Amino acid sequence: MIAQVVPILLAFGANLDRADGSRSDTIAAAQREIAEAAGIERFRASPLRETVALTPDGPDPEAPRYLNGVALAETTLSPHSLLDLLQAVEARHGRVREVRWGDRTLDVDLILYGGRVVADERLMVPHPRAHERDFVLAPWLDLDPDAVLMGHGRVDAILRRIGDSTLPYGGDG
Ligand code: AMP
Repeated sequence: MIAQVVPILLAFGANLDRADGSRSDTIAAAQREIAEAAGIERFRASPLRETVALTPDGPDPEAPRYLNGVALAETTLSPHSLLDLLQAVEARHGRVREVRWGDRTLDVDLILYGGRVVADERLMVPHPRAHERDFVLAPWLDLDPDAVLMGHGRVDAILRRIGDSTLPYGGDG
């Protein structure tokens, strides 16, 4: 049987440097590991953007800034096997998981898995908050100016509506 190849969209975020590398090093290493993993093909990462940290109380200009980006790829993995891969990569990069929405060295989210809807205790796809996150939509447009978010329409129109607070990223240091 030939495995089905499904287009996917992944989102990456990091707001803490690690002892052995900057935020951009962490994201680059995570993207390399995912791109080279079995069952992942045609991995294409966006440029990175910088954003103010988002907390349950709103944006926090005092918290370390986030570096964000997205990647398009194709996969033969099932949605849950793909989540296993993403969580293994997060774990390897020392993700700090004590506080929900807290600072972290790496966060990887599955935004879209083809046209599939998944809603169980482990996985929600399409990602339920993607349409309100400029740091997902803006780098996605960098890769695909005609991007469409399932259930919400054209990404350029959504981003115009919610506003784009992301900044082009010039490099750490
Ligand atoms: P967070 O702290 O926001 O990274 O959430 C991590 C938790 O969200 C994990 O326990 C995942 O099982 C769950 N989760 C649900 N939907 C998704 C998704 N689309 N991508 C990544 N994690 C997800």
